[in-house]
Amino acid sequence: MNVSLEVLRLALRDPFRIARDEPDRQMTTVIVELEHHGLRGLGEAYPVSYYGETPGTVGVVLPLVAEAVGRLDPPPAEIPGARAWLRDAECAMDAVIGRHHAAKAGLDIALHDAVARGMGLPLHELLGTSPDIPPTDFSIGIDEPALVAQRAARAGRFPALKIKLGGPADLETLERVREVYQGPIRVDANTGWQPEPAAALAPELERLGVELIEQPFPQHRIDQLRWLQERTALPIVADESAETEEDLDALVGAVRGVNVKLMKCGGVGPALRMLTRARELGFATMLGCMEETSVGIAAAAALAGLADWVDLDGNLLLATEPFTGLELDESCRWRLGDPGLGVERTNGGA
Ligand SMILES: [Mg+2]
Repeated sequence: MNVSLEVLRLALRDPFRIARDEPDRQMTTVIVELEHHGLRGLGEAYPVSYYGETPGTVGVVLPLVAEAVGRLDPPPAEIPGARAWLRDAECAMDAVIGRHHAAKAGLDIALHDAVARGMGLPLHELLGTSPDIPPTDFSIGIDEPALVAQRAARAGRFPALKIKLGGPADLETLERVREVYQGPIRVDANTGWQPEPAAALAPELERLGVELIEQPFPQHRIDQLRWLQERTALPIVADESAETEEDLDALVGAVRGVNVKLMKCGGVGPALRMLTRARELGFATMLGCMEETSVGIAAAAALAGLADWVDLDGNLLLATEPFTGLELDESCRWRLGDPGLGVERTNGGA
């Protein structure tokens, strides 16, 4: 297996700040190009710093897991065999090293792209997922309330907005956004709230047409998530607390929704199983992303038929990216690519 990695640093259109971090002006991701038995695929590993990953850890782990997958027989060119082979590839990766889910996602996405391209199929057909997908929302980071409102007005075509909270002016921010935007607002505190103030804010959020509250409290404070869920009609959605499928059981009865991301759980295969299991357990499902390029977003979009809420906008936050092929339709739904991810590198790079 021939795998090449490239660390890409791409400027963001606007500074993007979440509750626990300094504002990002650029993002750093790792692009994976794969050749295997004549197949060719593109993948992306966005290192998730919250879980201890960096471009350096991805650079170490990804070649190790690629070597293990390279020892498997070539992937079969029919759907059931190809699905089983991709699952074997995941197991081979997990046998080499635990966790490091973004690195594994990078290879998993490239393998899915390569196998689907080799069969001349769009990824959703290889997976058996529905091409009928919800529209994506658009995310706006923490900033001065007037600036957030300006960005909300600019994003008026999106059927929902995700507003990052956990800063000093949460309520004022939402009031200003509500003046310029009529659709549902999803709020994400990225672990930045305390229980009592959050419970006091909840009725204001309902009044302002907020649709859900994402991850108000730290990853391991399931008790606090449950406490707030018992005090509000709004769904609480676990993101940082819902890293992999194994986290779901502990969240049953504590929160109403979970946010599944390829970079948290290890790629297309793990995310498909996590979404399916979450629905079986009665959760409402969000499909989210990091500040990814079109490569990661196209891979996730193939699973969006399993999501109640789609938050796949990482590439829309970038000033430029060296990929083409992924487009939004007029209703803000991603057009699913064909074959594979349907994403190509543009000449010249970033
Ligand atoms: Mg989140």
